Amino acid sequence: SDLSRLILDHVRDIRDYPQPGVLFKDITPLLADPEALAAVVDGFAGLHQVDKVVGIEARGFILAAPTAYRLGAGFVPVRKKGKLPAETLEASYDLEYGSATIEVHRDAFTPGERVLIVDDVLATGGTARAAVELVRRAGADVVAIAVLMELAFLKGRERLDGVKVHSLVIV
Ligand code: 5GP
Repeated sequence: SDLSRLILDHVRDIRDYPQPGVLFKDITPLLADPEALAAVVDGFAGLHQVDKVVGIEARGFILAAPTAYRLGAGFVPVRKKGKLPAETLEASYDLEYGSATIEVHRDAFTPGERVLIVDDVLATGGTARAAVELVRRAGADVVAIAVLMELAFLKGRERLDGVKVHSLVIV
């Protein structure tokens, strides 16, 4: 489609970042392009009407906040451990080397609120899966996960069984 073409034309591959052997998808050219940025945010905002849009630190924030604004919804940050000031819930997940912990404020949602989780890239799915767990434990209802780009070879979707996953482009 035109949208997937626009995205592919504005995401570049960076070799050996952040570690040797990794081919990193750099979305900064997309963020810098007014047409591509608007198309992506409009794409996310067209998926579901929700009460809150969750952004996953850090690139998820950039896309989630304008999506929330567009929907007339609120924005909620899911952050790396230690960054949120009030009482939090936390979830940990395994990385290739070691593990990571993310948090959300305990009082981020009112019970039963409808939530869209937004991030830039779905890779192994560990981050998104932990974010789903956090939102549910905080009492809200995960309507879907939306990402700009899904790296299909990492099979992240398989770790998100039972959750609707929308990818604007799958590579
Ligand atoms: P996962 O937990 O699915 O393996 O990794 C997804 C998380 O790591 C997302 O928060 C995403 O921002 C980041 N990530 C992993 N690989 C890439 C990549 O190639 N490009 C970008 N922009 N983010 C990535």
